[in-house]
Amino acid sequence: MHINDAVFLEDLCPKFRFRQWRKSIHRFTGKSCIYCGKPSESIDHVLPRSQGGLSTTENCVPACLSCNGDKSDKNALYWYRRQKFYDPRRAMAIRAWLEGDLRLAIRLLQWASPKFKVSNENQGKDESKYKAA
Ligand SMILES: [Zn+2]
Repeated sequence: MHINDAVFLEDLCPKFRFRQWRKSIHRFTGKSCIYCGKPSESIDHVLPRSQGGLSTTENCVPACLSCNGDKSDKNALYWYRRQKFYDPRRAMAIRAWLEGDLRLAIRLLQWASPKFKVSNENQGKDESKYKAA
């Protein structure tokens, strides 16, 4: 057999491609929720599927389970404005994402969370503070 197995598999198995796509969505934000910055555990349809939202990258953002569940089928930007963790830079990032400008969205997210690419340097300090308190 001289078939390119990877391509062959992708064509035969849409699930495999779907999984790759989901992974790539999470990778855009460094596996953090686009709304609150916590680890993203799910994909949120900005325009819910019940309202005709498609499973396209523009309509699908990485979200934690808490945000995803709380937002449910509300309008994402309207819902986000009412959250305690609301950050206008993130709101701009979400809008850019919806418009398909992922590069701008990612830049805005980096701006909103300075720890975006920094390793866990400060975690040790926080922990000792927590123990002392
Ligand atoms: Zn969240």
